[in-house]
Amino acid sequence: MTALSARPSPRLLLVEDDRALATMLREYLELQGFEVKPVTSGEQALDLIPREPPDLVVLDVGLPGIDGFATLERIRQQHALPVIMLTARGEERNRIAGLMAGADDYLPKPFNPLELAARIRAILKRSISTAPQTLASGAKTLGYGNLVLHGKRREVLVDQHAVTLTAAELRILEVLLQRAGEVLTRAELTEIAVGRSLEAYDRSIDTLVSKLRRKLSLAGARGAEIRGLRGHGYVLDIERP
Ligand code: CA
Repeated sequence: MTALSARPSPRLLLVEDDRALATMLREYLELQGFEVKPVTSGEQALDLIPREPPDLVVLDVGLPGIDGFATLERIRQQHALPVIMLTARGEERNRIAGLMAGADDYLPKPFNPLELAARIRAILKRSISTAPQTLASGAKTLGYGNLVLHGKRREVLVDQHAVTLTAAELRILEVLLQRAGEVLTRAELTEIAVGRSLEAYDRSIDTLVSKLRRKLSLAGARGAEIRGLRGHGYVLDIERP
């Protein structure tokens, strides 16, 4: 609970057409420190998610209109939100098996709300602990032309051959790729590459960028250019094929 209480209340979207159950769950979950937005159909949920993205969705399977399975499928096409499904008693086993492929967890009705709160917390804890990594040094794969940067593996490949870069060079390339076409100031890049602010007559960022350029060009990287704007900063121009 400590990990959660340090941040604002986690926002839950509760999709349940049984109003009595929804009211009971909402009251209970709010007492547990969650912010709860109740809706009664899959259509409403799909409409609301892009406008007010929740931290987690509690989704009933039996809904009027599109059911919980179809709603889950549509959520998955656009969002990486954690979802807990509420299934009816006696739901076919194969339906549940299929559902488990897309949902983070499921709870058969009737259930103890205490159990639901515990499962929500477990899933949020999991997604909070992986989030900073994704944001800070991007677990993402980026690239252009024949170059690929694997954020998670901290590796750069040109035509599938590894290019040896220092950690600072790799951070520069990564941020240039993430913000391709955007001018990054020398101060910003210095902060990102070496973790300190730019000082007067500080040319270290220019040295780093020129070393990075040379390594990429020796490796045969094609399809983009790191362009310098004299005294101001750098931009990665990706050639559109
Ligand atoms: Ca229902």
